[in-house]
Amino acid sequence: MLKELPLSAFDWWQRIGFDYPVVWISGIFAAFALGACLGSFLNVCIWRIPRGESVVTAPSHCTSCGADIRWYDNLPVISYLVLRGRCRKCGTPYSCRYLVVELITGILFTAILFKAGFARQVPAVIPLYWWCVLLAISCAWIDARFRIIPDALTYPAIFYGIVLHALMPSACGMTSALSGGLYALLSALIPGILLSVFAIIGNKLTGKDVLGWGDVKFIAACGALLGFPGVLFVILGGSLSGTLYGMILTFRRGKKLSRCTIPFGPFLAGAAVVWTLAGNWIWHWYILISAR
Ligand SMILES: [Zn+2]
Repeated sequence: MLKELPLSAFDWWQRIGFDYPVVWISGIFAAFALGACLGSFLNVCIWRIPRGESVVTAPSHCTSCGADIRWYDNLPVISYLVLRGRCRKCGTPYSCRYLVVELITGILFTAILFKAGFARQVPAVIPLYWWCVLLAISCAWIDARFRIIPDALTYPAIFYGIVLHALMPSACGMTSALSGGLYALLSALIPGILLSVFAIIGNKLTGKDVLGWGDVKFIAACGALLGFPGVLFVILGGSLSGTLYGMILTFRRGKKLSRCTIPFGPFLAGAAVVWTLAGNWIWHWYILISAR
């Protein structure tokens, strides 16, 4: 029997019909709507997870008067604009975070879909990159505000990355479920273990937290979702941008660099988002440079 050859990324996009404007324009709308809805759920996570509340059992409610928020007042982006960012019952203004998170998630979902289609990447990378965006936005926001990166966000991301790579091994150029899953597992484990050693030794030597455990788990989750070399970019890009920001801050405030503590999560998250949007181009550019 003739064995069917695996479809190339180009064939995939052609089969989806991405060459037709009506298809990619509807794709853009669908991706934005999905991103905005998931962004709305992220808002629930950002508020409840650091406070130890469940994200599934209790229905959405106003954090000021406690009134349940009806479904028509809970439409992403639209409801916020219609109600002008206030509770329908008590009129308390809501944080603009609700609108910002929904918009950013929707825009990034759209950008990732469009870029993957434009660059003819394997479509299997899209759900992985989308999850990475969800992880990055929620962790960045929570870390900036509470200085923690919750396990409730990083552990599911690691699990999802491994399962999805096993289901769609073409995302990482593998051909079997076993090799795909193993690839994601190792991409999470290797940087996770190396950074744990770095964190333990660094903390012993300096007596301070040079790297938090939440950061280590976040990087491991990026490994499971983005694979290699994406996870390397997250570590390098996050460290460089974080250090640069720290230097600017100390220069402005005139303090010593060692006295200044900044959350690392937002910088790691920023690097992860950059990789989802431009990783393939960054990697090609790096190979070109190093081949000279
Ligand atoms: Zn209210």
